Amino acid sequence: MSRGCKEEAVVIGGGPAGASAACILADAGRPVLVIERDAAARDKVCGEFLSIEAQTYLAYLGIDLDSLGASRISCLRLVRGNRPIEVALPFVARGLSRRILDEALLQKAECRGARIVRGQAVTSISANQAQVSIAMGPNMSIAAHIVFLATGKHDVRGGKRASAGAMNDLIGFKLHYRLAPNKLQDLDGAVEVFLFRGGYAGLQMVEQEIANLCLVVSRHRFEQVGKSWDNLLARIMDECPPLAERLQSARPLFERPLSIFQIPYGFLHAPDRSEPQGLFRLGDQVGVIPSFTGEGISIALHSGCLAASVFLEHGRAASIFHHRVRSDIRHSIRLASALNRTARHAAGQQAIFHLSRLWPAAMRHVTALTRVQESSMRNVLLAL
Ligand SMILES: Cc1cc2nc3c(=O)[nH]c(=O)nc-3n(C[C@H](O)[C@H](O)[C@H](O)COP(=O)(O)OP(=O)(O)OC[C@H]3O[C@@H](n4cnc5c(N)ncnc54)[C@H](O)[C@@H]3O)c2cc1C
Repeated sequence: MSRGCKEEAVVIGGGPAGASAACILADAGRPVLVIERDAAARDKVCGEFLSIEAQTYLAYLGIDLDSLGASRISCLRLVRGNRPIEVALPFVARGLSRRILDEALLQKAECRGARIVRGQAVTSISANQAQVSIAMGPNMSIAAHIVFLATGKHDVRGGKRASAGAMNDLIGFKLHYRLAPNKLQDLDGAVEVFLFRGGYAGLQMVEQEIANLCLVVSRHRFEQVGKSWDNLLARIMDECPPLAERLQSARPLFERPLSIFQIPYGFLHAPDRSEPQGLFRLGDQVGVIPSFTGEGISIALHSGCLAASVFLEHGRAASIFHHRVRSDIRHSIRLASALNRTARHAAGQQAIFHLSRLWPAAMRHVTALTRVQESSMRNVLLAL
């Protein structure tokens, strides 16, 4: 391995977590290098629902969702079989494809002075108490004073997450559609969540009248349908006729759906005394909340902004950051994971559905408890 250069701060991964940390550091006049594996922003498996918390951070970072064409979503329609329940959301959510959002965030970081290297993957890291060494293939290495590890669900050799306790037999799929003109109006302003055997699917509009279908399903159910996306979708539409109706005459915009295997819902990084200072874990590297909450991007942005503010105040003290972020997201992740486990079984789905119908306020209350709390966000934003 050749001798590499020395950097003050390196962010590995240019998703919402990494890009937000880079924006804050660059704003504070600190030199920061972002290494992003993809040469250009791409579509990712995601429901593309932006909660009010995500919107608050995005506005703070200077992202104008209106000019990016984000849709507006003000109600949740929960559908089981043929029956829908409609509940008003406690805020207006937005829908925006990840390709557009991630590119906008990385461009913001670059405009503020961060250096962005695209199309290069970090292959391994190793940390001691003085520095973090980053390898990018066999011939290139960088030594950094501090590293923000923001690679999402992808682990880097030398920095693997301990996944104990996390559910990881779930598969995520996502596909964009152009809906038939007469179906557009029915979906407008709503996020629809369809409960089916072994999983759930979300459907909502994003920008430019594109509809995003994103679903999670257990590996067992996927195996039962012969590991075929076409079979899976056909069975889900049999179980949920309103979904079949929505997608009637719709045109898929990708050749195949995007997929992600072994989603570690419920993962929460547990800081321990032996972990090196100078290595901060952000976004899905610090905690993975079940996707029905639509809160993963908020957690990513919250952790990115918090990590940058802790670094600016306390230097390489990763343990301070990890304890704070854990305490901010722990309760939401635990509650959402318990609900996710319940929603995987028919009896649990039925219970959730009936409770939501009889007592819509309970649903709103639970929703509020699975979000990044306003007080945690306020503390971060006031510190910046
Ligand atoms: C099925 C599903 C639906 C979801 N729906 C929603 C939703 O509707 N709303 C919501 O808020 N959240 C949702 N989420 C969660 C959300 O997608 C994630 O929590 C969020 O993307 C985490 O952001 P991140 O920056 O940590 O990681 P990512 O967005 O995954 O970004 C990580 C970046 O790191 C790069 N990278 C990876 N490895 C390397 C490497 N070795 N070297 C360099 N770069 C690397 C990747 O290319 C990527 O750009 C959903 C998740 C799933 C699985």
